[in-house]
Order: sequence, then C-alpha cells, then structure tokens
Amino acid sequence: MITDSVHTLAATKEKLAAAASGVGRDVRDVTLIAVSKTFVAEDIRPVLEAGHRHFGENRVQEAFGKWPGLRQEYPDVTLHLIGPLQSNKAREAVELFDVIHTVDRPKIARALAKEMERQGKRPQLFIQVNTGEEEQKAGMFPGDVAGLLALCRDKLGLEISGLMCIPPVDEEPAIHFAFLAKLANELGLSGLSMGMSGDFETAVQLGATHVRVGSAIFGERD
Ligand SMILES: *Cc1c(COP(=O)(O)O)cnc(C)c1O
Repeated sequence: MITDSVHTLAATKEKLAAAASGVGRDVRDVTLIAVSKTFVAEDIRPVLEAGHRHFGENRVQEAFGKWPGLRQEYPDVTLHLIGPLQSNKAREAVELFDVIHTVDRPKIARALAKEMERQGKRPQLFIQVNTGEEEQKAGMFPGDVAGLLALCRDKLGLEISGLMCIPPVDEEPAIHFAFLAKLANELGLSGLSMGMSGDFETAVQLGATHVRVGSAIFGERD
C-alpha cells in the first residue's frame, strides 16, 4: 500500500527541486531531513521504503526508542538531532546521531568533545543561533557565535559544519534566513540548517543546505 507520507514526500521533493532551480541551485546541494519526531516506527517505514535516508528527531530518548531497530533494517540511514541537547545526554547523542544541529553553549561543546574522543565517533556539528534573540529560546546569540566557534575549533578540536536557526514564530522567516546566511559567510561556514514545513522553499532560496521538514511529510502532530 502506498501511504500518504510517500505522496507528501514526493510532493515535498518536487517543491524543493523547484525552489532550488528557481535560484539556480542544484537540489543535490540541499539535504531534505524528514522530521519524524512523535511518529512511531510503523509511520516512518514507508518513507524509508520509498528510499529516503535522512531523518530528524528532537529528543534523544524518543529516538532511542525507534531508531536502533530501524537502523538494523536500513543501515545507511543518516540521523539528525535537531532538538535541544542536555550535557547529560551527550553520550547517547554521540552514540546514535550522525549530525547534531543544536550545539548552543560551551558546556555542550565540551561534553560532546569528551564523548567523541571516548567513543571515537565524529558526528557532524552545527551551532544553533537564536537569531531573534528571544528569551527562553535555545541557541547562541549571534554576537556570541564567533566565540563558541573558536572554542570548538581551537580548544576542543571540534569541526563545525555550519549554523542552524529556528526563526521566531511571529516574524518573517526570510529575514532570519538571510541573517543566518550572512553570519555563516562571515565566519567561513558553509552549512545552513534552516527552513521547516511552512518556509523551506524560502530557506532554499536563501541558501539552506539542510531543511528540516516534519508535518508536510508525516502529517500534523498530536
Ligand atoms: C519539529 C521541528 C521541525 C519540523 O517542523 P514542521 O513544521 O513539522 O516541518 C524542524 N525543526 C525543528 C528544530 C523542529 O523541532
């Protein structure tokens, strides 16, 4: 049976390709991360069967409940952690994830460095930026990103692939995407993790290398 998520995945890929070609970009330079948080293995399997291999989860514990099993069936999956990380979860995060998008303070960077050394595993890392400088929101303020980057590179031996942001809900996302792209460019970083179901085409137009799309593929979450 072909499920809805297989159709919505195909539709999302078409929109992504159109957005990329509209600005002269190669769609192969944009990684579509299917965000499967809150969905169970049975919901995810059709998307895997359709050949998709990049998935995002926002909770380490929840991801451990479904991905080790799915990975045995689909060993070439790339798993992205897109939710906030506590330093006491660094061990599990390094064990399970291939890409961590949410490095957002020195304490996390240190905990990850220690675990990466211990496990001999090197997930790709993004620094999360609080572009709207919102209270209570994860991410480094833009003015502090250079300092965290220097700590990662010079003191901890961590390579940083790029920047990630989640724009404030009540603001025009394009402004935040353009800002993140400019900041990454100034810092010499090429990766840009930005854009969700409602705005991934805009993000691609503004240079996203990774878009994180959940509900447009899997449907609304409870
Ligand atoms: C849930 C989530 C997404 C996906 O959101 P949708 O609007 O369902 O596409 C993207 N990024 C992060 C950080 C998320 O937590």
